[in-house]
Amino acid sequence: VEQKEELTAQESADKGFKGHGMLAPFTAGWQTTDLHPLVIERSEGSYVYDTNGRKYLDSLAGLWCTALGGNEPRLVEAANKQLSTLPFYHSFWNRTTKPSLDLAKELLEMFTARKMGKAFFTNSGSEANDTQVKLVWYYNNALGRPDKKKFIARSKSYHGSTLIAASLSGLPALHQKFDLPVSFVLHTDCPHYWRFHLPGETEEEFATRLADNLEKLILKEGPETIAAFIAEPVMGAGGVIPPPATYFEKVQAVVKKYDILFIADEVICAFGRLGTMFGCDKYGIKPDLVSIAKALSSGYLPIGAVLVSPEISEVIHAQSSKLGAFSHGFTYSGHPVSCAVALEALKIYKERNIVEQVQKLSPRFQDGLKAFSDSPIIGEIRGTGLIIATEFTDNKSPNDLFPPEWGVGAYFGAECEKRGMLVRVAGDNIMMCPPFIITPEEIDQLISIYGEALRATE
Ligand code: PLP
Repeated sequence: VEQKEELTAQESADKGFKGHGMLAPFTAGWQTTDLHPLVIERSEGSYVYDTNGRKYLDSLAGLWCTALGGNEPRLVEAANKQLSTLPFYHSFWNRTTKPSLDLAKELLEMFTARKMGKAFFTNSGSEANDTQVKLVWYYNNALGRPDKKKFIARSKSYHGSTLIAASLSGLPALHQKFDLPVSFVLHTDCPHYWRFHLPGETEEEFATRLADNLEKLILKEGPETIAAFIAEPVMGAGGVIPPPATYFEKVQAVVKKYDILFIADEVICAFGRLGTMFGCDKYGIKPDLVSIAKALSSGYLPIGAVLVSPEISEVIHAQSSKLGAFSHGFTYSGHPVSCAVALEALKIYKERNIVEQVQKLSPRFQDGLKAFSDSPIIGEIRGTGLIIATEFTDNKSPNDLFPPEWGVGAYFGAECEKRGMLVRVAGDNIMMCPPFIITPEEIDQLISIYGEALRATE
């Protein structure tokens, strides 16, 4: 990556924006007053450019979403075409638009882990997960089970930022000072083998123990009170945590036994990220409900969706026929421009065999980065497909954390930035999730910058 000056992105970005007017998401107050934001102006392929013209390899694909990179002309064309024909019409009261009908049909055909009945459109992953809760409650009320309302999610999961999605998430930072989680959400174990397995415990034994703990929680609460279990196939924002062997098989058996619905949060995993079209395909998950967003439009426009099993959608259909309407939805549910872009993105994924492409690139990416596992400051590097995390710890131990004030992760992130690469830093966890269109040469460059930044951090 071309590098003209030894400045961090913070220093090099447009200094005029310090103390800007945004109450910025997931940003500390002091950051906006003391630092210059990195202002991104333009993107091209796997790269983004800041307002000073500096180029960065975008190892996080925006925010886990720009699967087709920064300037896919077909997506721009699809948006322009739809904007100039019908920029907006809604989908309420049995009025709708062609792109939303076509996208629903396409998604139901594409999801093959099991047959799905209907698709409900949202603007985001958080709204998809909020919608999940309302759908499940509506369904259980229709079935005359008003007490079956609790949700079980997992520690370290990320399901979004609205009241309900943040409650489902198992990250304390999302709850602190927001009076969350809401009381109907319970959390069970995080399936991170390296961090949580007992001495001598195999992955399979670990998975059995977690499934047993889940069952204990269900029995303690009363199975008649538990409505659904929600899980990301690979946990994303909580630290890129692939499940241990046999985990989903065992957990699915438990929830099925107690008539508890399984919700797959595929917001990051769907459309090829793990080297399968959906995360459910990879782990043999047969969900009742699915949340998708992000790569659905390659991040070009906001859109999310919930896929609903025929069993649930039929009950909702019957109940709403009785009541007069299914009174849930957003002005922009099925926004025609977002749907047109999503349809084009899905077409491109299929035409370019995106799943195969990810499978081909994955060993270069995974093996290239995992080769650094011997570093004395790395506890674990874990990932699959085109998603990976590095966790910095001392002595190779999950328990020997570096003192937070050392800022090891932040230092590494800044070293990457200096060398022209943006990574996601979460404490001492570094996450990467590049666009699917990343080339083998760009992967080599990513690994080379990572290696240099690592040496500087050691
Ligand atoms: N679910 C998962 C698994 C996610 O990773 C995210 C966002 O990162 C969300 C839900 C929330 O999506 P959004 O930010 O579009 O509301």
